Amino acid sequence: MSAANTTLTPLPRGRNLSGGAQGAAPGLSIVVPLYNEAGGLERLHARLIEVAQKLKAARALNCELIYVDDGSRDGTLAIARDLPAAGLDVQVISLSRNFGKEAALLAGLEHARRGAVLFIDGDGQHPPDMIETLVGHWLDADCDVVYTAKANRAHESLVRRILVKGFYTLINWGARPKIPEDAGDFRLLSPRAANALRQMPERNRFFKGLSSWIGFRQMRIDYEPAPRVDGRSTWNLRRLIGLSIDGVTAFSVAPLRLATVLGTALAVVAIFYGLQIIYETLVYGTKVPGYPSLFVGVMVLGGVQLIMIGVVGEYIGKILEEIKGRPVYFVAEHDVKLAETAQPDAPSAAAPLGTRTAAE
Ligand code: UDP
Ligand code: MG
Repeated sequence: MSAANTTLTPLPRGRNLSGGAQGAAPGLSIVVPLYNEAGGLERLHARLIEVAQKLKAARALNCELIYVDDGSRDGTLAIARDLPAAGLDVQVISLSRNFGKEAALLAGLEHARRGAVLFIDGDGQHPPDMIETLVGHWLDADCDVVYTAKANRAHESLVRRILVKGFYTLINWGARPKIPEDAGDFRLLSPRAANALRQMPERNRFFKGLSSWIGFRQMRIDYEPAPRVDGRSTWNLRRLIGLSIDGVTAFSVAPLRLATVLGTALAVVAIFYGLQIIYETLVYGTKVPGYPSLFVGVMVLGGVQLIMIGVVGEYIGKILEEIKGRPVYFVAEHDVKLAETAQPDAPSAAAPLGTRTAAE
């Protein structure tokens, strides 16, 4: 990447985001977020091309592939640029640094030039063969959001399963509509669902939540994720907890409501406890056993108050982020290979197959 052709393009937040795909060629944009996925990318690309060609033959559906390199450090970008276009439109968007998967998905969504959009992970865990099934539900059953969910979590650690359960309980507490448990990012959005998602103005994005919030016709498909092809998952426990806090605060005010409920419950208990002490002192003349109960009371209340200040702080932090209005990502480079200029199976590195546009 030379400095000359590297342009930083902020996400134009002011424009009507629904405009991007309006009038776009009908078909399907397949968005693949990539962070250090050099190992399995070529294999995944070959499979996606097969699927795209099948969809074209069976359903006359034009597919476009969008690879979003989220600041990888392992040569993913170079490999993505050299992928053969094989008669498809292929976009390679490289972000200026690692912004996280949600930002990478947004970059893909906003650059998609076909009507429908499909998100699929770049690590081979989401089986490309299922794309035809998802497309089938969209075209035949008229579903707008066809999402996949992990059939079972038996192989995951107990801690992770407990955290996941707690996360969904909290985020769905009093929420409407509920975010389906275990739903993944492997999903297909019809043109109108994709447009709806483009119009969500928030910066702290949580796609699983947003795509259930928009409504329309939703369809769930259970599947068994494959093991990672290469590399390792970037979600260690710390990142997972961070993502959960982001997800919950982006989506629900349940923790704030929890403070109200907890505070009320404690106050009620305190009132009854106080009444009991007064009663025992007046009727039985019992001396008030002071120190231990006082100490426990102060500790519990102090702890609860600190936690709740932290919770309120999380929301204030999110408000600050939204109010600053920074772009969600910057595009450093944007390569587009168009089908008309692409030669089937020709390697793209040397050939002038595509136009390298300076971001958008
Ligand atoms: N990913 C990304 N940016 C990140 C982390 C991950 O674009 O900061 C991509 C990653 O390359 C993969 C997908 O998001 O295609 C899912 O990541 P991962 O496999 O680490 O998550 P898991 O499957 O464990 O949920
Ligand atoms: Mg994965």
